[in-house]
Amino acid sequence: MSTNQPTCIIIGASHAGSQLATSLRKEGWEGRIVVIGDEVHMPYHRPPLSKALLMGEKEPNQIELMKATVYEKANVEFMLGVHVSSVDRTKKQITLDNGEVLAYDKLALCTGARVRRLDIPGKDLKGVFYLRTLADAQAIQAAVKPGGKAVIVGGGYIGLETAASLHKLGMKVTVLEMMHRILERVTAPELSLYYNGLHNRHGVEILTQAQALALEGTDHVERVVCNHDRVLDADLVVIGIGVIPNTELAEAIGLPVDNGVVVDEFAQTADPDIVAAGDCTNHPNDLLGFRLRLESVPNAMEQAKTAAATLCGGKKGHHSLPWFWSDQYHAKLQIAGFNRGYDRVVLRGETEKDQFVAWYLKGDEILAADCINSGKEFMLAKRIIAEKVKISAEQLADPSVDLAALLPARA
Ligand SMILES: Cc1cc2nc3c(=O)[nH]c(=O)nc-3n(C[C@H](O)[C@H](O)[C@H](O)COP(=O)(O)OP(=O)(O)OC[C@H]3O[C@@H](n4cnc5c(N)ncnc54)[C@H](O)[C@@H]3O)c2cc1C
Repeated sequence: MSTNQPTCIIIGASHAGSQLATSLRKEGWEGRIVVIGDEVHMPYHRPPLSKALLMGEKEPNQIELMKATVYEKANVEFMLGVHVSSVDRTKKQITLDNGEVLAYDKLALCTGARVRRLDIPGKDLKGVFYLRTLADAQAIQAAVKPGGKAVIVGGGYIGLETAASLHKLGMKVTVLEMMHRILERVTAPELSLYYNGLHNRHGVEILTQAQALALEGTDHVERVVCNHDRVLDADLVVIGIGVIPNTELAEAIGLPVDNGVVVDEFAQTADPDIVAAGDCTNHPNDLLGFRLRLESVPNAMEQAKTAAATLCGGKKGHHSLPWFWSDQYHAKLQIAGFNRGYDRVVLRGETEKDQFVAWYLKGDEILAADCINSGKEFMLAKRIIAEKVKISAEQLADPSVDLAALLPARA
């Protein structure tokens, strides 16, 4: 049912959804904007959940994505704590889990991702947590016991950030990583080694090639049984083994899905009235030259702006270089680019001083840079990679070479 006032329904009230709503108004959308989310909170910054919020340095009201007045001014309506259970493309309507039906003229899928669950004995014991939502983070906080033992299953960024935060809260932390090294899928061995040392220096134990086989306890978790007959005592277990994109709605209505809802550079799905943005999308990136699905706030926000323009009939292609960050202890990592396919890593700076850059190269092409406590180099790296500036490995490795001077002058 279309009225004189068209309605855009946005499914998912997080980084992509809230950005899309406000951008839509800026792009000139005059109709209703309804954001529907199944979490009960207004959209909030997710990254602090494993960092400042978990450590108690920030309160939930300090991580709101936008002030309520911003949404009010843009006349954005929210329906929170409700799940969209189905979409009907023919009737152009959605159905909520409470049975309510809403009509749309345009629809945006900003459904993000959910945690991958570990299916092992004892998985439902009390004291076993995942970390994706504010409610998850608050539940972990409530279970923290200073002096107690925490086991983190998964040595990816979220697992390691959680390990650092729980350590700061006074827990004795062990991280279990199934692969040969932590961060194996996302960084070079040099970075894994650096982070391993960083955690060890703080007293966090990291076990590699270590797999959680079962969780034991009567009602509450007490032990983690691992391969190699190793058993670890645990008062608290946090599982961080990756996420799965929420693509079920798209699949059910026959939209192409391939590890994410397939969209073009304009965030357009195969249906001209449906866009998608954020962690749930598989999108092309012309700077990288391939399609990918990203789990990153900057990507969610940029793609949401693109989607808003598309819904208003504009054409603002999504052409951003991926970037990401991670905070662990005093080490602030900023990543520019995407290192897939690298054949060489060049270090600039000193890992012992916690200030260095790992440059990823494929032949003489610079693909990505992991910058530890090197904000200036990160800004340069973004330009170097996006503009495909040619800089030799020797120059990259030599801290006396001024990289800024090698950049072409801006027009
Ligand atoms: C602990 C943690 C730390 C992180 N740290 C960083 C970081 O340092 N830097 C960084 O760039 N990224 C980080 N990320 C990743 C970042 O949070 C995500 O990339 C970002 O949240 C993606 O935003 P999104 O809006 O696409 O999806 P999401 O944030 O996943 O939001 C999707 C929302 O849609 C809801 N939803 C899904 N389906 C439905 C439905 N059918 N009906 C109603 N609602 C629905 C979901 O419940 C969710 O609330 C971190 C993530 C976590 C969990």
